[in-house]
Amino acid sequence: MVSAFGQEIFGVGDKRETLGFQTEVRQLLKLMIHSLYSNKEIFLRELISNASDAADKLRFEALAQPELLGEDELAIHINVDKEKRLLSVTDNGIGMSREELIDNLGTIARSGTAEFLEQMTGDQQHDAQLIGQFGVGFYSAFIVADKVTVDTRRAGADQAVRWESDGQGEFTIEDIELEERGTRVTLHLKEDEAEFAEPYRIESLIRKYSDHIGFKVSLHTAGEEETKIVNSATALWTRSRTDVSEDEYKEFYKYLSHDFTDPLTWSHNRVEGKREYTSLLYIPSAAPFDLWNREAPRGLKLYVQRVFIMDDAEQFLPLYLRFVKGVVDSSDLPLNVSRELLQQNPELTAMRSALTKRVLDMLGKLAKGDDYARFWGEFGQVLKEGVVEDFANKEKLAKLLRFASTHSGSEAQDQSLDDYIGRAKDDQDKIYYILAENYATALASPHLEQLRERGIEVLLLTDRIDPWLVDGLGEYEGKALVDIGRSALDLPDGDGSVSQDAMNKEHKALLKKVKRALRDRVEAVNVSRRLVNSPACVVAGDDDLNPQLRRMLEASGQEIPESKPILEINVDHPLVGRLSAESEDDRFGELSHILLDHALLAEGSQLENPAEYVHRMNKLLLDIESGATDE
Ligand code: ADP
Repeated sequence: MVSAFGQEIFGVGDKRETLGFQTEVRQLLKLMIHSLYSNKEIFLRELISNASDAADKLRFEALAQPELLGEDELAIHINVDKEKRLLSVTDNGIGMSREELIDNLGTIARSGTAEFLEQMTGDQQHDAQLIGQFGVGFYSAFIVADKVTVDTRRAGADQAVRWESDGQGEFTIEDIELEERGTRVTLHLKEDEAEFAEPYRIESLIRKYSDHIGFKVSLHTAGEEETKIVNSATALWTRSRTDVSEDEYKEFYKYLSHDFTDPLTWSHNRVEGKREYTSLLYIPSAAPFDLWNREAPRGLKLYVQRVFIMDDAEQFLPLYLRFVKGVVDSSDLPLNVSRELLQQNPELTAMRSALTKRVLDMLGKLAKGDDYARFWGEFGQVLKEGVVEDFANKEKLAKLLRFASTHSGSEAQDQSLDDYIGRAKDDQDKIYYILAENYATALASPHLEQLRERGIEVLLLTDRIDPWLVDGLGEYEGKALVDIGRSALDLPDGDGSVSQDAMNKEHKALLKKVKRALRDRVEAVNVSRRLVNSPACVVAGDDDLNPQLRRMLEASGQEIPESKPILEINVDHPLVGRLSAESEDDRFGELSHILLDHALLAEGSQLENPAEYVHRMNKLLLDIESGATDE
């Protein structure tokens, strides 16, 4: 038997099996072909990227087993045959065993894939964006091919294997013989994709997709003598910054991340001296689908003296920077470094803090431009984790935070703490915030009334992590962060000097009566200094859990000690006046409960007994009605 490109293949037909793709692969294939159609040439980038990874992996294994490497230079060959509509990408890298072939090209091992696929809508643009976040790979070959053949021999093994599929649901596996280790992926191009067997078309694509990788990539056209080396075969990060164009940086990012949208920004640096390494770090423009999966692979691609060591080396950056993609190439780490060794390496601590600083500086620069809003929308919540986890960089991180506030009048988180301070009143030594379930609840909160009246800005915090964020932050530029939903509230040039006790004194009898009516539903009843238009609100005691946090912990099934809210009433409000004038005990009790129920509802809390509330309300409405007819 003769293969597509004339290579002799012996012993075909041994152990031929037909296997089905995992369901997720089948779905992915269908969606990919449909949604990436307008981007179809990226399949070549993916195949070159896989070939280069395979060469990297072989070089790595050869560190321990030099005999694996042999004489041949590691390289990638591309063949085109226009007449037969064939395109192949061949590498002499690590290759795959039968089991690896079935696992790698028959299944998708990433957790969350099924959920990810459920988000697909059938809308081409939307889905293309999503697939970009997932990372396209080998299967993209089926965008342009109606049959794909993979011939491969694992380095160190004798037996070679062929995988073949039309991408419809099944693939076959059979033993073959190959003279050399490595992998050849052959695309039988669809009738209307013959352009990808055109030497000129392919040459410019190869140049675009491979100029930045460290292996030679050559092109051979069927029927011609000459084999042409197409790329410069120098790994991009080893070149000097001034020699690399913007487009090359972008292209390298896509090759590295399997993302096909441009990165937002990047930072390329060489550190020399006591510790020598090069880093190239990218900020993606969209979050990957598994950003919130703490187990998802993350981290940088690690090289030591240009030799690939591992993917996803997570030790170089903290978890809260898990969205950063890139390469680090160290001259000092030992070539046999493993994940375990990395953890114990003293060099690493210093590199990690330097790289962290690099990323934060890069974000600081980005924050000066228009792209920062995009970054914040995608990754802001992750960055907030840093304030809680990375004490050393608290100041830097605080400058990068963005919030919604009563000043901006929109839900967008676009105000920095510096913006806030710039607008603060001269005698305002605090930064005020409110925590709420969502923007609408925050904005409508009665707690804001007095501050709004005085023109004091309040940050509106609605992300899950915000209670921890404000705890971790504590203060900014010497100004304490103050929760306006807590009982002690100290406003500038205001009533801060008048103690709660003094304020309560005047209305002692009323407060006592309300407290008695509400008995164990509240901790205390106070006269409020924060209300203007609302009759009442609830606040948390200064040492109590914030109600947001309480709701979250309860929802996650945690047991938390009971704590009751403090009811604050607005003694200038007509409803409270009406309550105060009520002489009938039953009615006074009902009204007090309703006052509390409304205060709880306004802050987004659930009523413990909604039916009782409805009953009370109905009764009140009927009373009004009969009162009206009585007159
Ligand atoms: P990814 O490259 O993102 O992991 P792919 O679908 O492109 O996903 O490939 C799946 C796996 O198949 C790879 O991780 C690799 O283990 C294996 N593979 C693909 N191409 C090659 C190749 N040319 N040589 C060796 N292994 C390969």
